[in-house]
Amino acid sequence: MSKIDDFPHDENPDEEWDETEDHEDEEDDDDERRYGDDCPICGQFNSPPADETCTHICAWVWDGETETLGEGRILRAALDRLESFVEFGQSDDAVIDRLNSASASSHDLGVLIGGARGYLPMSEILLDLDGIAAGQGWTSGGMLGGSGRNFYVKTDGSLAALAAECDAISTDAPD
Ligand SMILES: [Zn+2]
Repeated sequence: MSKIDDFPHDENPDEEWDETEDHEDEEDDDDERRYGDDCPICGQFNSPPADETCTHICAWVWDGETETLGEGRILRAALDRLESFVEFGQSDDAVIDRLNSASASSHDLGVLIGGARGYLPMSEILLDLDGIAAGQGWTSGGMLGGSGRNFYVKTDGSLAALAAECDAISTDAPD
């Protein structure tokens, strides 16, 4: 019979830690995999600087600079067109009416139009969109030190659809 149950358990496995050894965790300051957060939809860890991403990521912000990916790129392009439309039409009553009624028609369009009117950074606009889930973000030292956060699309295609709605407002000049 085995005497395994009587085998003395090691009560303190860290006891033999050798302080003179080189510990690996001092070397990973440049490990880009640390810069990321978990996708709230599928749970995968996403690190855009290390090109490690799931299909839901649409943007990431790093020290205020927003990079867009996938559908996020389509939305950013639509937002750029919307900003120009808002700027050129700011004293045009027909444009103002169109923007006001579009803002009132859906939360996310309201966020985009409000963002375009206020020249808000893309990261602030993304945070307010219902169709987007923000990651928990990260802060770290080392060569890429700073804080960042990833943004994820809750439903495939929803950002592209929102971009199309946004373009419908801004592409044709009102009569
Ligand atoms: Zn995911």
